[in-house]
Amino acid sequence: MNLRDHIRDVPNFPKEGIVYFDITPLLADPSAFQYTIDMMAERFSDYKADKIAAAEARGFIFGAPLAYKLGIGFVPIRKPGKLPYKTVSVDYDLEYGTDSLSMHIDAVDKGEDILLIDDVLATGGTAEGMVKLVEKAGGNVSGIGFLVELGFLKGREKLAGVSTQNLLQL
Ligand code: 5GP
Repeated sequence: MNLRDHIRDVPNFPKEGIVYFDITPLLADPSAFQYTIDMMAERFSDYKADKIAAAEARGFIFGAPLAYKLGIGFVPIRKPGKLPYKTVSVDYDLEYGTDSLSMHIDAVDKGEDILLIDDVLATGGTAEGMVKLVEKAGGNVSGIGFLVELGFLKGREKLAGVSTQNLLQL
């Protein structure tokens, strides 16, 4: 199966001059979606993981079924103001400006190994924010798994010291 065939290039989204890699065709194809989760389970199970953590919204789509398949817990990382209980938060840098991510304060136990999952590694700001958040909560990020890495944006450079893997490099 070539996952690239299930990812649509959308020029000039969200801004003029940017090509957006749209994963919704992959989600709509049952064998491509199943293959993706199965491959993630195979490739990313090198990372020791007590739980998977992933950020809304597209991280949830891959993180939750992978946690189910690996038989481990799932921790939702959300934009501020969405989680009902006490939270821990971090600010992180985007290409233009900053944003924040939050997680429940008791979502991760001290020293627990956490596998982070996201659909696309672009500039790396979001992944860097997720690492900071898990570490602030006392967890240990054992690795980060992406469906797609956009190598030309060099996001990996922001993630020095953290092991990352992808299923598809563009
Ligand atoms: P970052 O630049 O922080 O690495 O990416 C920001 C967020 O937007 C990440 O969660 C990433 O999944 C998403 N993202 C950035 N570019 C794309 C893209 O071309 N396609 C998709 N599906 N998501 C993207």
